[in-house]
Amino acid sequence: MTESPARRPLPQPTVSSEPFWTSGADGKLRIAQCAACGRRHHPPQPICPYCRSGDVAPAPVSGRATVAGFTVDHQQWLPDFPPPYVVAVVALEEDVTVRLTTNIVGCDPAEVAIGMRVRVRFEQQRDYWLPLFEPDPDASSDPGVVPEPDRASVSVRPMVSASKFEDKVALTGVGSSAIGRRLLVDPLSLTVSACLRAVEDAGLTVADIDGLATYPGGHAGGLSEGGITPVEEALRIRPTWISGGGDFPGPSGSVVAAMLAVAAGLCRHVLCFRTVWESTHTHLVRTGKIATGGGRATGMFEWRSPFGAMSAANWIGVNASHYFWRYGGDRESTLAPIALTARAHAARNPDAIYRDPLTLDEYRAARMISSPFGLYDCDVPCDGAIAIVVSAIETVADRPKPAVLVEAVGTQVIERISWDQGTLTHEPQVLGPAAHLWSRTNLRPDDVDVAELYDGFTFNAVSWLEALGFCGPGEAADFLAGGKTIGLDGPLPLNTHGGQLSAGRTHGFGFLQEAIAQLRGEATGRQVADARVAVVTTGGGTPGGALLLRRAD
Ligand code: ZN
Repeated sequence: MTESPARRPLPQPTVSSEPFWTSGADGKLRIAQCAACGRRHHPPQPICPYCRSGDVAPAPVSGRATVAGFTVDHQQWLPDFPPPYVVAVVALEEDVTVRLTTNIVGCDPAEVAIGMRVRVRFEQQRDYWLPLFEPDPDASSDPGVVPEPDRASVSVRPMVSASKFEDKVALTGVGSSAIGRRLLVDPLSLTVSACLRAVEDAGLTVADIDGLATYPGGHAGGLSEGGITPVEEALRIRPTWISGGGDFPGPSGSVVAAMLAVAAGLCRHVLCFRTVWESTHTHLVRTGKIATGGGRATGMFEWRSPFGAMSAANWIGVNASHYFWRYGGDRESTLAPIALTARAHAARNPDAIYRDPLTLDEYRAARMISSPFGLYDCDVPCDGAIAIVVSAIETVADRPKPAVLVEAVGTQVIERISWDQGTLTHEPQVLGPAAHLWSRTNLRPDDVDVAELYDGFTFNAVSWLEALGFCGPGEAADFLAGGKTIGLDGPLPLNTHGGQLSAGRTHGFGFLQEAIAQLRGEATGRQVADARVAVVTTGGGTPGGALLLRRAD
C-alpha cells in the first residue's frame, strides 16, 4: 500500500459500495458475492442481480485479473493527475464477467496489452483504498482469460401486435438555432430560437403545440438549458403532456416519448428539443464565472473519476482497443475513413463548424487524446439547439412540407447499462437498439439510402455500422474501403452534414435534422439522390436509440 502520488477525485460511496472502497485496508480486494447462488457482481448492489437474493456481502478475491481493454490517456482532465496514464478494464481471474475500471501502474504504458496478467495494488487516499493494478510478477507468461462477447444477450422482444404506434405519427417540423463555438449566449435563447423555427417549419403556431419533450432535462452543465420548466416558462404553451430526463433510449428517446404521447391521443403536436452549450460552459468555468469541483464522484463517476477516467474518450477508447485486439484493423483503416468522410461532407454544409479539408496526413499527425483516439476522432463541442415537431398522422395533409414518417424505432436494452461490465467489442448500447429496430420493419439494411450514425468518436459510427448489419462484426475496415462506400455517391452515404465530428456535437439531434433534410430533398449541396429511407442513431454510450425514417410518398 502506498500513498497516492496523484491527487485523485475521491468516490462518494453508497451504503452498498462503501465496503469496496475500504476493503484494501488489509490488502485484500473484496467483491460483492451472493450467498444464495454464489455469483459475484460489480458494482455492488443490495440484491443479487442473478437470483435476486438479498443475501449479498463483500467477499475476498485473489486480486488477480487480466487486461480486457485499455487506453493511454494523453489529455489532462484533472489539475493534479498528469498524463500519460493507462485507464484499463480488467476482468477478475475468478469471474471474467466481473470487471473493474482502474489504472495499470508499475510499467511503461507502452508495455500494457490486452491479455496481460495483472494484480491489485492499493493506493490509500484519506479513508479509501483505491484498487490499481500492476503486472503480476508471479503469473505465467501465457495471456490471461479475456471475456468473450455475450451473444446470448441478443434477445429481441417481438412486436406486441401487428399495429405499430410509429404509423400514427409523422415528423412535420425541424429547426435549429445558431450553432457554433463559444456563442456566449443564454442557452435558453438557443432553445427558444430552435423551437420557434421548428414550429414555423411545420406550418404551425406556438398555440398549436400541446406537448413538450426533451433530453436530458435538468441542469447538466453545458448539456441542457434546464429542461421543460424554463422552456414552458418562456413559451407558456400550456401543454397537455410533458416529458424530459436522462433515462431515455438515447437523446432520440425523447422523440419516441413524444411519438407515444401523440399515438396515444394525448397530444397532436409535440415539440421536442435538445440544447447544448458545452463550448460556452467550458469557457465560463475556465474564466471562473461558473464554479465547479470540490465534490465527490457519484453515480457512474464513482467508478471512473478516481482513476482519471473522466471522459467518454477514455471509456470508449477502452472498447476500441478491445475491438482492434479481437478483430484487427487500426486507426488508419477503420477510424480515419469516418473522420475524413465527415469533413468532406461538412465542406458542403454551410452550417458545419469545421469545413476545411482534412487530409490523412493531418489525421495521422493530430495529437492523441486517449488512444486510439486522436483529435480528429473526437467530435466538436459547440453551442446550439435543434427542435423537431412530432405530429399526429391525421394532421399531415395540412402541413406545408413533405412529412417524414417513422418506419421503426429501436429502443430495447439488451445488455447491462454500463460502460465496462457489458459489451466491450463495440460502443455499449448499440447492439440492442439496432436489433430491435429491424424487428419492427420489413425493410432491411440494403433499403437504407442514407445513414446518420452517432459519431461522438469515430469508433461510435463504426459500432453502429456493424450493429445495424451494414457489415459484420469486425468487418468495418473492409466495408469502408478507405471511405469509398460512405461518400455522397457511395452505396451508403454516411453523416452527410459532417456528423458531430465536423458539424458539431449537437448530441444526436443533428442527425435527425439532417435525415429530415435528406428525405425532404432539402439538403442543398449535399443531397443524396432520391433518398427515401434514412437510419438515425443517437447515444454515445448512455442508453442508445435508433430510428428508421422514410419519405411519405
Ligand atoms: Zn444470487
